[in-house]
Amino acid sequence: MQELYRQVILDHYKNPRFKGLKGFNQVHLRNPSCGDDITMEAKIEDGVVKEVHHDGSGCSICCASASVLCELMHDKNIEQARDLLADYYRLIRGEKVLQEELLEEAMAFQGISQFPARIKCATIAWKAFEELLGDKDE
Ligand code: ZN
Repeated sequence: MQELYRQVILDHYKNPRFKGLKGFNQVHLRNPSCGDDITMEAKIEDGVVKEVHHDGSGCSICCASASVLCELMHDKNIEQARDLLADYYRLIRGEKVLQEELLEEAMAFQGISQFPARIKCATIAWKAFEELLGDKDE
């Protein structure tokens, strides 16, 4: 399993999905401790994530998790997206995930909880995306 997860992360790092910005709403975040520098953008219409892209540079964990996020969140509604974010954060903290099957390739990051120094790398894109979703009562 660990080897499979490593392959997923490597594949997304080497062949990032949805990389490159198109000019939608953007959030830029940096993680100075690792040098991760990432911009997420999303087009949200009628409560659905129609498009989500990423760009920037950083370590393999950061870049791969941004790529996985884009693939996962595409066409999800805001409520589903929030549930996925919450479950991903649980995974990264080493807590029990509520809907494991819905996280798909994001499950590859479950080992991160054993490396506290990398938690920021694995969540930076997800925090940026969370900001793009806006306030809860919108
Ligand atoms: Zn990093």
